[in-house]
Amino acid sequence: MHAAPSLLEPQPPSPLTEVADERLDAHGVRLLLKRDDLVHPDLPGNKFRKLRLNLTAAVQARHDTLLTFGGAYSNHLRAVAAAGRLLGLRTVGVVRGEELADRPLNPSLSVAAADGMRLDFVDRATYRRKAEPEVLAALLARHGRAYVLPEGGSNAAAALGCADLGRELRGAADVVAVPCGTGGTLAGLAAGLEGGPGECAEAVGFPVLRGGAFLAADVARLQQEAFGGRRGRWRLDDRFHHGGFARTSQDLEEFASDFHRRHGLDPERVYVAKMLHGVLTLAAEGAFPPGTRVAAVVTG
Ligand SMILES: *Cc1c(COP(=O)(O)O)cnc(C)c1O
Repeated sequence: MHAAPSLLEPQPPSPLTEVADERLDAHGVRLLLKRDDLVHPDLPGNKFRKLRLNLTAAVQARHDTLLTFGGAYSNHLRAVAAAGRLLGLRTVGVVRGEELADRPLNPSLSVAAADGMRLDFVDRATYRRKAEPEVLAALLARHGRAYVLPEGGSNAAAALGCADLGRELRGAADVVAVPCGTGGTLAGLAAGLEGGPGECAEAVGFPVLRGGAFLAADVARLQQEAFGGRRGRWRLDDRFHHGGFARTSQDLEEFASDFHRRHGLDPERVYVAKMLHGVLTLAAEGAFPPGTRVAAVVTG
């Protein structure tokens, strides 16, 4: 077995690089890119932060299987499949939509399958009930004893792992922007920012899903479970989902290719481009006082 122990170890801080953008200069705002896409070579971005302590717990409890949940385009499923391959653990992905079982795998699921993940396609009604004890028991009966990670991988261990991200940014920024799916990254980031020199930076989460009415409650619950209560300063701005998960808009495409031209970084479209679009829009609206240092977390 070729273990990849570095998946279980904290990594050196990911790079923080300032970029010059005349649209921000006009408002006296500085932009720093927190390159979490470079945090680990095999498991980049927030998926490394979210999985590290979960993988440690799974290995310590002598699990040989990881079981988790996701939609057909889930980065989380892919990350768990890669982690399983690197650590010599079996992986099971429970995928929403039984109709997908009869179709060719999309590129995302193909990568997961190539990493050895066993895919179990379930109908949407069952998928919705996946956290209920009977549904979970049936899955474990089918696949054997397993360390279970929730959809998107957001649990207390994930939020604790993401607190490292906040710690790395202490004192370096006044506002930290992060895209949100399930909110685990924001929960940990905001907690980790607290306790540095000067005033605690505010974390601003940009949901990429539509109808994120429950997201604030989810973030608060994750902070409660991981840290025992609300931590740090954070809020959500839900205006930048561009139609919903994995949807895009002409606006977003134009913004992203322009950002690529200006800064040499082609932003990942599902999460990162939406967050950056939010940051530039807020700056244009005058939301940041002159002198504000905004760190944008490139999560993938
Ligand atoms: C999974 C993912 C997110 C969402 O993280 P949450 O903790 O679910 O909010 C953000 N960015 C990228 C690139 C991701 O893959």
